[in-house]
Amino acid sequence: MLWDRGYWLPQDNRPASQALRDGELKLVLAGEKLEGGWILVRMQSDREQRGRINWLLIKHRDQWARPGDADALLRKDRSVATGRTMRQITAGGERYHGSPDHVANALPAAAPHSRPLPQRSQAKHSNAVLGVAISNPHKLLWPEDHGDPVTKFDLARYLEAVGAWMIGHIAGRPCSIVRAPNGLGHPTFFQRHVPVRMSRHLVATQVADEPKPYLQIDKVEGLIAVAQLAAVELHPWNCAPQRPDAPGRLVFDLDPAENVAFDEVVTAALTLRERLEALGLRTFCKTTGGKGLHVVTPLRADKRQTIGWDEAKAFARSVCVAMAQDQPDRYLVKMTKRLRTGRIFLDYLRNDRTATAVAPLSPRLRPGAPVSMPLDWRQVRRGLDPLRFTIRTAPRLLARGSPWSDYGDGARPLVDAIKRHMSA
Ligand code: ATP
Ligand code: MN
Repeated sequence: MLWDRGYWLPQDNRPASQALRDGELKLVLAGEKLEGGWILVRMQSDREQRGRINWLLIKHRDQWARPGDADALLRKDRSVATGRTMRQITAGGERYHGSPDHVANALPAAAPHSRPLPQRSQAKHSNAVLGVAISNPHKLLWPEDHGDPVTKFDLARYLEAVGAWMIGHIAGRPCSIVRAPNGLGHPTFFQRHVPVRMSRHLVATQVADEPKPYLQIDKVEGLIAVAQLAAVELHPWNCAPQRPDAPGRLVFDLDPAENVAFDEVVTAALTLRERLEALGLRTFCKTTGGKGLHVVTPLRADKRQTIGWDEAKAFARSVCVAMAQDQPDRYLVKMTKRLRTGRIFLDYLRNDRTATAVAPLSPRLRPGAPVSMPLDWRQVRRGLDPLRFTIRTAPRLLARGSPWSDYGDGARPLVDAIKRHMSA
């Protein structure tokens, strides 16, 4: 019987093979039955003995641990592929033959979906988007108790709709993904490196000093390929394309404390814009899909590039410090959570070689399926509601406006801005 299936990720600094040899592997599971943190331990009594080795799978105490009758889970004896019980399997009879994709479609209790999906009989890859087959298309990633439900297929269709706009901000740079095989409220994996069996639409990029190749997405089909992996968020590096060591943009992350009104974040973005533009930089604003706003400045990497991430980060920090010094009652640059009350944290730490920020138009794994929406500065004003921008609304809103249309022409050499900043 196929008792469970899904994904797992090691939670150790050691390679998994080494952890197994040591007899103790910490892992996170995102299965259909088993979820959350677990630890696989080789049993002591077996260490000296030869022959059969027993392993114990122990649940970590976390939000997926359900205290009580642990055997209850084991009594769930239905196959995740066919829904048949052990008794039905032993009795024989009709069984389902097919690839896992088809089995998923054949599951008796298919989840409700918001758009009619093509029937399996129509075409071989009727669940394909841009030629990429989507397995488990009905899987709810943002379940319906948080507004409109969004399925894995909806995610792929969304990325198809906005992919051409997004891809220029992602291509040529390592891109981490947040994978949520079972959707909102279930375990997630922040994945930096390439998956084991990689789609031909994805790129493995080797970065100096990093032992394992990073995941890179260079074309829209690659976005669909990561949707197939249930990647609900995309977090690229901020380097110049194909130049991991060259700063390609700065991202200023405005993080309001709990009790700060969103209008205050709007004011902060406008203030920061004024400061950066006064230094000769062009600025662009986006919602994060979360609590704050990002202000982004594209950089031009000249041939004799002398500005690296150390300089870029020091510059970003210095701009934030100056802003906080002018209005210390509103802004701060210290990480300390306790000091944040009533203020906005100016986070310059996205500006480093391996640091990431959520990509424009990336969805967020939060209630309502919000996205990080690129805005026209005219939209950045009182009453701006970041929750308006969702997987459902963003494609239409993007087509109606033309946010960031001058982004390509907006790149400026950081060295000039640093000179102005120093002489100010
Ligand atoms: P908000 O407006 O709610 O602050 P945000 O995108 O600015 O949204 P977070 O979601 O807190 O903030 O993410 C902070 C940063 O950390 C992001 O730039 C992201 O790239 C990175 N990040 C997110 N999740 C992880 C993770 N699991 N491991 C490492 N880095 C992460
Ligand atoms: Mn933030």
